[in-house]
Amino acid sequence: MLNKADITPQLAEELSADREKVLKFIADLKWRDGYVCRNCGHTNYCEGKTPSSRRCTRCKKEESATANTIFHNIKFPVNKAFFIAYNVCMLGNDISTYKYSEQLGINQMTCWKFRKRIQDCLIKQGPEKSIVSLNKVIIL
Ligand SMILES: [Zn+2]
Repeated sequence: MLNKADITPQLAEELSADREKVLKFIADLKWRDGYVCRNCGHTNYCEGKTPSSRRCTRCKKEESATANTIFHNIKFPVNKAFFIAYNVCMLGNDISTYKYSEQLGINQMTCWKFRKRIQDCLIKQGPEKSIVSLNKVIIL
């Protein structure tokens, strides 16, 4: 079970480097109170086709780890998105989107748009910068 104090800088670094690890992390966080199918409300699931996705054993609807989270429909690797989300929640705007772009090897405008998505989410939740808000941002 995930504890909200568990995102140490070391863990964040590990997650930022590994797509499957971060998907598992998001799934654990998203379904921390147990899995409930969004389609039919059933609580039994089996593994889906993509890493850490879950498939309802009744209606067979599959939900990816990133569906209904801040990482929904992003067009670049989720571990890189996690890196941006972590840093924006922890450091605010201290890191420019040019720096993210250079460090992660993704388009600057892509970084800017994703950072904006996180910032909009943080604004809705109040100014608190912490692990707690990172968790809230991820889950939406
Ligand atoms: Zn279902």
